[in-house]
Amino acid sequence: PSAAVTAELDCFMQGLEKRNPGEVEFHQAVREVTESLMPFILENPKYKDAQILERLTEPDRIIIFRVTWEDDAGNIRANRAWRVQFNNSIGPYKGGMRFHPSVTQSVLKFLGFEQIFKNSLTGLPMGGAKGGSNFNPKGKSDREVMRFCQSLMIELHRHIGEDTDIPAGDIGVGGREISFLFGQYKRLANKFVGTLTGKGLSFGGSLVRTEATGYGCVYFCENMFNRIGDSIKGKTVVVSGSGNVAIYAAEKAAELGGKVVTMSDSSGFIHDPDGIDAEKLAFIKDLKEVRRGRISEYSDKYASASFYADARPWSVAGEIALPCATQNELNLLEAQTLLKNGVLAVAEGANMPTELDAAYAFRDAGILFGPAKAANAGGVAVSGLEQSQNALRLSWSREEVDTKLKTIMKDIHEKCVKYGADGEHVDYIDGANLAGFVKIAEAMLAYGAV
Ligand code: GLU
Repeated sequence: PSAAVTAELDCFMQGLEKRNPGEVEFHQAVREVTESLMPFILENPKYKDAQILERLTEPDRIIIFRVTWEDDAGNIRANRAWRVQFNNSIGPYKGGMRFHPSVTQSVLKFLGFEQIFKNSLTGLPMGGAKGGSNFNPKGKSDREVMRFCQSLMIELHRHIGEDTDIPAGDIGVGGREISFLFGQYKRLANKFVGTLTGKGLSFGGSLVRTEATGYGCVYFCENMFNRIGDSIKGKTVVVSGSGNVAIYAAEKAAELGGKVVTMSDSSGFIHDPDGIDAEKLAFIKDLKEVRRGRISEYSDKYASASFYADARPWSVAGEIALPCATQNELNLLEAQTLLKNGVLAVAEGANMPTELDAAYAFRDAGILFGPAKAANAGGVAVSGLEQSQNALRLSWSREEVDTKLKTIMKDIHEKCVKYGADGEHVDYIDGANLAGFVKIAEAMLAYGAV
């Protein structure tokens, strides 16, 4: 970048850090986007004149509230919860809820900020939001989770609605939690409308929503390969995580002829050099989604696999890496190891799983790097399709939704190419940031000073 760009960027980031002290995850997400945008903004003074970047990095509002609930032993417990309504320039606020002890305002602001761009990329009319709580669902009974969800909704319901803000799941919020939340919302709002997505199939949920983030991530990866005349077929795939995103990314990668050799959770990772096929994946689904057990059980069951405690899978060689666990789960050293071992493509299933310098290392090495806001947009895209089905009061078939998902991921890939191509090479980080930005910025300019 030129000296003028660097100076402007430094000045902007200093201001942002001062206005948002200590929010390191939020700073990181904004820096990644701003590094792409600054040259473009300096070339297009209308965005700078209208202070678009300053306005876009300040949430419309943040609702912070206490959630009191009773555990099974009869103790009263309290947690903090948030809804960050970040930007509704191109549609009602939309984004997941995360329940995890690591949840802070900084984490939710980074997620909400990313969501603005991701939702823009889907081409659907959705603004950006995120919410969650530091509540830890791990080790809690179903009844405790139910009481927590019901109590949280007593406050949240007055801030959301099918035309204002539509929450969904994220880490720690799956089908069970969405069901508890929706049941309580329906009762408090006294109407049956699609104000949450990720619902059960019998009450307005969409087919393929569960699979959408993982499938979409692999479709995006396949699109990146196809552009250079290659494909996933025959390649070894290193996956992190074993939640909803990781499981369906692994499923689709295997379906397209890849050999998935790792999965992980917070206790460590398993390496199965024989490959995790459909039958083994069914075991992981039951282990994680029904029994809520640890990934080490996999290597107890399958002799071909080894378990590595307290470690991440990035030392395992493969041509494809799919980080599908959580933020900052892949650092520079691990990126260098992956590159040394011949990685050709990285597609982010999780949100901001790659640290900034690690992402730039992939970019500098010239490999295919699909950033989260593009690669994992399939989840929220099918959430958007769930809203459409709810509004139309009908439901589409599995094939219909999957076809639409494929088309959306292909369109996102094309937008990244359009905005990120430099000769033969495509910078997907710049492409995703610019393509996502332009649509929102144009809407904000059209509205004037609001
Ligand atoms: N939590 C998911 C994401 O990070 C999905 C959000 C949604 O479906 O609204 O995009």
